[in-house]
Amino acid sequence: MTQQNVKFLENSEDTEFNKKMKDIFEYFHQRPELSYEEYDTTKELAKLLREGDIDILDLPMKTGLVAEIKGKKGGPTIAIRTDIDALPITEETNLTYKSKNKGKMHACGHDFHMTTILGAAYLLKRDQKKLKGNVRILFQPAEESSHGAEEVIKTSALDGVQAIFGLHCNSDWDVGTLGINVGPVTAAVDRFEVEVTGKGTHAAHPELGTDPIVAASNIITALQTIVSRNMHPLNPAIVSVTHMESGHTWNVIPEKAYFEGTVRTLNEKDRELIPEKIKMISENIAEAYGAKANFNWYEGPPATNNDKDWTEVAISVAKKDGYQVKIISPKMGGEDFAYYQKTLSGTFVNIGVGKGESLHSPKFKIDELALEKSTKYFKNLAEQALIVLNSKRD
Ligand SMILES: [Zn+2]
Ligand SMILES: [Zn+2]
Repeated sequence: MTQQNVKFLENSEDTEFNKKMKDIFEYFHQRPELSYEEYDTTKELAKLLREGDIDILDLPMKTGLVAEIKGKKGGPTIAIRTDIDALPITEETNLTYKSKNKGKMHACGHDFHMTTILGAAYLLKRDQKKLKGNVRILFQPAEESSHGAEEVIKTSALDGVQAIFGLHCNSDWDVGTLGINVGPVTAAVDRFEVEVTGKGTHAAHPELGTDPIVAASNIITALQTIVSRNMHPLNPAIVSVTHMESGHTWNVIPEKAYFEGTVRTLNEKDRELIPEKIKMISENIAEAYGAKANFNWYEGPPATNNDKDWTEVAISVAKKDGYQVKIISPKMGGEDFAYYQKTLSGTFVNIGVGKGESLHSPKFKIDELALEKSTKYFKNLAEQALIVLNSKRD
């Protein structure tokens, strides 16, 4: 590669590198793509990785990609992961680099994540000779669909990986704040559907039919006792019915009623118990009304599960890098990084990007000043993780 291409890698302290990162961030922010449609984003990432002379693995992925920086021969391998997708939201900021893709927006900061991890990759590449092992860099598609991580796991992207690290931005905090905790920091996100079948009839003759609306209404009310009467009071869990449909006019009792919703839990025991209870309540109440309930359960990502030792490593690197570290409580939102943590130990950190509008808001913004610190942090964290793994071998 030409000297001109790597010039910005020569000295990370210089403003040229930070300017390059800012430009990359703004480029991605202007060109958001939805889950599974991240074709241009992937193309640009590949171009930028090639500019940094970073190897891209040959994997069967339609969007997203995996790169690798090889260090010490025979050394351990770790992975760092960023998501790359955006949301179907029309941007309402006044940024000069506002989204150019109509109705799409990086409103969850995945442009910030991508730039951070790409920047860290550049810095790791620059100091490749000192690297005590290999760093696999996952540019994962479709996080917002909750299933992008599974696409990556299906490939051989994680072969030989011993630990994994990921990030999310946080707009409740100033730049320079990093939040983390051991155990779950996000919840398992599952979906359920119930269809109640009765017998349709004239509204003037309810005695001739079986009203599915009355049965479904009673089921929905009873579902609210699952958490309050079955969960440990100090164990957060949510059962929410968020959508219901039945009937089409005022003088006909319909045949069916449908509703769906979501369940959020932080541990596997609750996650197993809740769908059993929903099924039992739905079927038995429906039966009591002479109707029939059909229950379906769709699993999303489990709760994240931050490893104690890796969380301590992430905290010590953060403190060294001058971050103010916050020990956070879990949130009931989801994060598909959790799929990696089913088999790999690792930790997931939250990074302050300036106080402002919440994630997924059309006015969500990132303070670009956060980039410089987060880029260096992920470089330092990757290096330190490899040092730790090497010391465990000795
Ligand atoms: Zn999001
Ligand atoms: Zn996100």
